[in-house]
Amino acid sequence: MTAEKQYVVKGAAVLGGEPTDLLLRDGVIAEMGRGLSAVGAEVVDAAGLVALPGLVDLHTHLREPGREDAETVETGTLAAAMGGFTAVHAMANTDPVADTAGVVEQVWRLGREAGHCDVIPVGAVTVGLAGERLAELGAMADSAARVRVFSDDGKCVSDAVLMRRALEYVKAFDGVVAQHAQEPRLTEDAQMNEGELSGRLGLRGWPAVAEEAIIARDCLLAAHVGSRLHVCHVSTAGSVEIVRWAKAKGWDVTAEACPHHLLLTDELAATYDPIYKVNPPLRSAADVEALRAGLADGTIDVVATDHAPHPHEDKDCEWQTAAFGMIGLETALPIVQQTMVDTGLLDWAGVAQRMSAMPARIGRLTDHGRPLAAGEPAHVVLYDPAASYVVDPAETVSLSRNTPYAGRELPGRVVATFLRGRPTVLDGKPA
Ligand SMILES: [Zn+2]
Repeated sequence: MTAEKQYVVKGAAVLGGEPTDLLLRDGVIAEMGRGLSAVGAEVVDAAGLVALPGLVDLHTHLREPGREDAETVETGTLAAAMGGFTAVHAMANTDPVADTAGVVEQVWRLGREAGHCDVIPVGAVTVGLAGERLAELGAMADSAARVRVFSDDGKCVSDAVLMRRALEYVKAFDGVVAQHAQEPRLTEDAQMNEGELSGRLGLRGWPAVAEEAIIARDCLLAAHVGSRLHVCHVSTAGSVEIVRWAKAKGWDVTAEACPHHLLLTDELAATYDPIYKVNPPLRSAADVEALRAGLADGTIDVVATDHAPHPHEDKDCEWQTAAFGMIGLETALPIVQQTMVDTGLLDWAGVAQRMSAMPARIGRLTDHGRPLAAGEPAHVVLYDPAASYVVDPAETVSLSRNTPYAGRELPGRVVATFLRGRPTVLDGKPA
């Protein structure tokens, strides 16, 4: 067996700080300092690049099994690596649904075989996402995939008794229920944010209260049973207020915001272009401001992509019939740079906290989201914040092309991603 290749990363600005060298060897950061060298090591020039810990996504749709025409574990994890991710949580709404130990182990194994980033399956809360009875939460937690995050994402666990039972059940293994907060009766046939514009466009509205009512209820339930709640894709100013209130009470509630909700507004629906159709919908400029402020002050704990690939036949149709969702793994860090860093709301240490450390902590991952320090796992992203590019959907490595940023100029570029010291991306290309 040949020894694994070593890498000396020269002069990276660690979390945006002073230029530092990193020696990556045997899967860990063996040394950090100035003037490092090692015999036989490949040198990676990182002058001008920011080094961040490998990003962790709490909310990715890989579509396999069942919709391999939209994405596979292989293509989705490669897209993740290109975006700087070293771990992604794969949502459970596949076909079959990830509601048994067998399916979550299958997804976990496919991730290991692909090798581009670690895949951590999310288990369904209810059998078949049907919202009627609890799935085998304990068996999924005990499986090789060691599931700790459970979600019916795509659907809301709207039955309060079931939600209470799920919150009670996951306490046994320190799990968390990640809720897709959408009151179903208030959102029947909803197409876009409810407001003056939805009325003018003749598209059925998705009111903010449909999200906020479920979040408020679930915060109260989580507090009542003393369990962990995570709120998926927070999209309204009112939701940020409710999460802030729950945290002030000392309750174990965390929340995520998606890059598209930090940048885009419901005005885009006026184009009737379903590329902008997403659940929860794009909201108002005031909501965008509140989300940014909430992410900056830590009310919103993490950025999660909700990467939702769809084949063109499901998106290239009229608004009403098009699928909800947009891809986002490859553009997440540039969007966060544009909306949070370039605006002065977050520094790079803050980005590392919200895109690596906190999502790993919420998912109870022990070997991701770690600091960049000697002895730590060598999950490293090298990022050039001074670069810029115009998004061309044809260049995405995801199998699907449904990016809302086509033709937009975005800042930054992921130059390299290392998973346990092995490059998955080098020179901005798959390694
Ligand atoms: Zn989702």
